[in-house]
Amino acid sequence: MSSDPRPYPPRERAVAPRRTVDFAAELNDAQRAAATHGDGPLLIVAGAGTGKTRTLVYRVAHLIEQGVPAARILLLTFTRRAAQEMLARAERLVGSHSRGVHGGTFHGTAHRLLRRFGPEAGLPGDFTILDQGDAEDLMQLSRAGAGVADKTKRFPKKATLHHIYSRHVNTEIPVGAILREEFPRFIEFEEEIGKVFADYTRRKQDRNLVDYDDLLLYWAMLVESEPARAIGDRIGALYDHILVDEYQDTNVLQARILKGMCRVHRNLTVVGDDAQSVYAFRGATIRNILDFPRDYHGAAVVTLEQNYRSTQPILDATNLLISRAEERYSKELYTRRTGGERPWLVTAQDDSQQTRFVVDRILELHEEGIPLREMAVLFRAGYMSAELEIELTARNIPFDKWGGLKFLEAAHVKDVLAFLRVLENPRDEVSWYRLLLLMPGIGETTARNAIQAMAEHAWGHEAFGRFTPPPRAREAHGALVQLLESLRANPGAEEGRVGIEIGRVRALYDDILKERYDRVEPRLADLERLQAIASGYPDRTTFLSALALEPPASTSDLGFGGDAEDDVLVLSTAHSAKGREWDAVFLIWAVDGWFPMSRALGDEEQIEEERRLMYVAMTRARNHLAVTFPLNVYSSRRGADYSFSQVSRFLDRGVRKAFQRVVLETPGEPAAAEPPGITSTVDVRAMLRARFGGAGDAPG
Ligand code: ATP
Ligand code: MG
Repeated sequence: MSSDPRPYPPRERAVAPRRTVDFAAELNDAQRAAATHGDGPLLIVAGAGTGKTRTLVYRVAHLIEQGVPAARILLLTFTRRAAQEMLARAERLVGSHSRGVHGGTFHGTAHRLLRRFGPEAGLPGDFTILDQGDAEDLMQLSRAGAGVADKTKRFPKKATLHHIYSRHVNTEIPVGAILREEFPRFIEFEEEIGKVFADYTRRKQDRNLVDYDDLLLYWAMLVESEPARAIGDRIGALYDHILVDEYQDTNVLQARILKGMCRVHRNLTVVGDDAQSVYAFRGATIRNILDFPRDYHGAAVVTLEQNYRSTQPILDATNLLISRAEERYSKELYTRRTGGERPWLVTAQDDSQQTRFVVDRILELHEEGIPLREMAVLFRAGYMSAELEIELTARNIPFDKWGGLKFLEAAHVKDVLAFLRVLENPRDEVSWYRLLLLMPGIGETTARNAIQAMAEHAWGHEAFGRFTPPPRAREAHGALVQLLESLRANPGAEEGRVGIEIGRVRALYDDILKERYDRVEPRLADLERLQAIASGYPDRTTFLSALALEPPASTSDLGFGGDAEDDVLVLSTAHSAKGREWDAVFLIWAVDGWFPMSRALGDEEQIEEERRLMYVAMTRARNHLAVTFPLNVYSSRRGADYSFSQVSRFLDRGVRKAFQRVVLETPGEPAAAEPPGITSTVDVRAMLRARFGGAGDAPG
């Protein structure tokens, strides 16, 4: 009984409706020209808040509307979060057609391409990524191995060696020149340093490890490889359009990569602001922006001057601040927005009064209807928010911290990850070293001997079990062998597998943690969270790669526990705030020696970079900006004493004129004395009372 086969058509896939984007209504003329630019190189160079990032989003939408397949568009940004947000916005414009666009950081994209194309070019596909700390530890092994360090105490330490190495790779400046410029005291060691670097490179290759710099370096080498039609052309042919945000913070290696990626076509759009270049210390160079028209002949150049972010009084202050910069290409920014009050320059008696003011004012703005997530507290360096973090915790105000010490850089989190990493890559010497030293009874020598023994047995799974430890390490050795075996025993793929593995590691590790660290409770809570986060990953490899590439600034970064949607305040370093905006911004510690940091003070270029960084921080504000500085700074370094501080040199008399001065009162005491050069004052409490129309009768 035969009949014709029954046809079964595929179901229509749900595709969000494609709406036509009204470029004319949503962009100004210059922005629209850039967004709808045809083929060929395009540079958008413009100041803060002029809509560079917005234009890039519309350009993605335009390309999709023109029929460019989403998967053939590559969007490179400074953080993964920025890429996700931009793509989400593009999706709102053109619907889910934009979903296949590849968006991410240079490093993340390098990782993806190397896993895919590396094996054809001699790089085994199962490499492990070293984060900065791991790389320094490996450098330490090379430093010890070279023997030079023993002879003299003056030989550079691991962090310095890694810095020099990374700078060399990212800037292509010869090691000798870096030493002469930055570390003249180490010039005599140039040859030995070269040997340490050679050893470091060899160690990485022997152990199949790849550091952050290698990701970019290998990518550049792949796309530059000859002969034509080889791998370089194939990678270049993956995309028809490449778009880059924050181009002012790219380095020569990244410029080489883009050049290589554009060997098949020339459809490169880059967007940046030289006044916001803040990563020179990592090798970024604004030459990439300045030389773009020369490197890409016939490039279209678009400039934007209308600011859509901030009120005019805030722009007046930030324009003045950056007008003091030595070198400057961008023009004065203006806005059509009207109204807004002058930004506040707040003098506090000391750091705790500064903290109290920030928290009080945040609560006040919150009561006026500004959600916490629309407010941010910014500072020059991660540790400067410590007191604020404690106060916010005490007052039950939820916050998220960006930049500074990251969750995954915490020692106890790294300890636990070391166990997973040796399972993943038995040749991962750095992780072995870390976890061996954790074990009671195992010291430097035993750790080294164990690693040596494993190397001799070609890093086989059983190699560690065969190693004979000295008597006092026997118990620890046995426990570790047992744990690793049990973890290897059933590599099943059941759900939550990685979380279960961490649970087993913790059965051994939690006691060690309690021995080794003080403040045990928050650390254990961190591990709880780590375990929960891990359970969401399909397998160990995916989990470890994700962490090594994008260490989340906090657990909510991973969308864990659904708190990504919550209304939380943001605390951020100025660097991590780049590209963002908030309704209200507080810049704390505007003290000379803190911002600019004291270590920048001897060097003109570094001071200029600090100035641009302060410009980045202040230009994040839409409606409210408050810059605070304490008059007295408690300094334990100076013998547990208070010292009188100066307001940041960037807020000179002229710049201060754009601010309204605010002096905080202490209950029962008169207002603080004004620091030199600051006169007219405003009483905040009087202002608050005035706001509610009850000037005289507020409780004192
Ligand atoms: P930064 O230099 O800080 O990265 P940017 O130049 O990338 O700033 P955007 O973040 O793109 O600026 O834009 C700043 C703000 O102005 C955003 O809220 C954006 O939506 C808004 N904006 C930009 N252009 C327009 C426009 N033509 N119409 C309305 N809003 C706009
Ligand atoms: Mg931007």
